[in-house]
Amino acid sequence: MISLVDLTAQYHSIKEEIDAAVLATLESGHFILGPQVLKFEESIATYLGVKHAIGLASGTDALVIALRALNIGEGDEVVIPAYTFFATAGTVMSVGAKPVFVDVDPQSYQIDVNKIKSAITPKTKAIIPVHLYGHPADMNPILAIARENNLKVIEDNAQGFGAEYFGRKTGSLGDIACLSFFPTKNLGAFGDAGMVLTNDPALAERMRMLRTHGWKKKYYSEEVGYNSRLDALQAAILQAKFPYVDSWNDKRRELAHRYNEHLATPGIILPVECEWAKHVYHLYIIRSAKRDELQAFLKQKGIASEVYYPLPPHLSVPCRTYGYKEGDFPHAELAAHETLALPLYPELTLEQQDEVIAAVKEFVG
Ligand SMILES: *Cc1c(COP(=O)(O)O)cnc(C)c1O
Repeated sequence: MISLVDLTAQYHSIKEEIDAAVLATLESGHFILGPQVLKFEESIATYLGVKHAIGLASGTDALVIALRALNIGEGDEVVIPAYTFFATAGTVMSVGAKPVFVDVDPQSYQIDVNKIKSAITPKTKAIIPVHLYGHPADMNPILAIARENNLKVIEDNAQGFGAEYFGRKTGSLGDIACLSFFPTKNLGAFGDAGMVLTNDPALAERMRMLRTHGWKKKYYSEEVGYNSRLDALQAAILQAKFPYVDSWNDKRRELAHRYNEHLATPGIILPVECEWAKHVYHLYIIRSAKRDELQAFLKQKGIASEVYYPLPPHLSVPCRTYGYKEGDFPHAELAAHETLALPLYPELTLEQQDEVIAAVKEFVG
């Protein structure tokens, strides 16, 4: 059986360091925020070259807190890609604003920058590019459109940790960046965890307040906030894993290139890496008109695969209120019908990968 990811393999590869970090935290008596969290925030801020990092309970909370800090709410619109994890849309809705979808580029699956302008109205407050699958969105045109229209840019970098755009790290390019350390992400905790980053000290202070009940001073709420703190155990685990993330991403890239080499066959559309991009292959996504049959065939051979995502957000139940319909975003909808993630994680062995390659080739015939 070949799984899509193998979190146990990664744990075993650095078990001693992780166990020591966990035990030291148990002995420290600090479990919410505290020195472990501060240290991890500093590591990520330095890595991305951003001044302020604020550890949170999840990537979903990171999006909510970023939107709240930018005063986005009732009556506002936020431009997001039509193909993404539901949280990108759901968080916009949860603060009372309306997600306005823009179709994706059919090759890179990133928001189509040529279609953003026509989605902007007087109500638009922000754009959320998502670095989907670990490939950066085309940030320069997005930042230019945002500047011209006085909009904020929130990067949803949940899948792009370590990715680069013209040599600059994703997560350092917008007004605020959101990270998720969900266990399967390229840098993953052993539970939920997230972070927001910004260079703006006022936004950083506001997000820090929102993280803990809107407190400026303990117990003195200035506004309604959340309980969304990164806990010390997760921070300690993440700090122990952090020094390995670049080499893990390199491994992902090597395996992805190896897939590309062996799966270049008619009937399978391979992922692209734009010339300005460093892709970190959070997911290795191929495309086939016979996707469902391919997935069933792989399953029968003991090979896991997964669809990210079978339903574009505009066709989800919560978005029905906006009246979007099938056919509104054809590239997002086609991706939902045809894309498939193959097993890819740093510890995947070449023998395992060969098995996946052979099975896909056998299917294609
Ligand atoms: C994982 C993910 C999130 C949400 O992160 P959680 O930590 O699971 O809340 C948001 N956006 C995208 C694109 C994601 O992949």
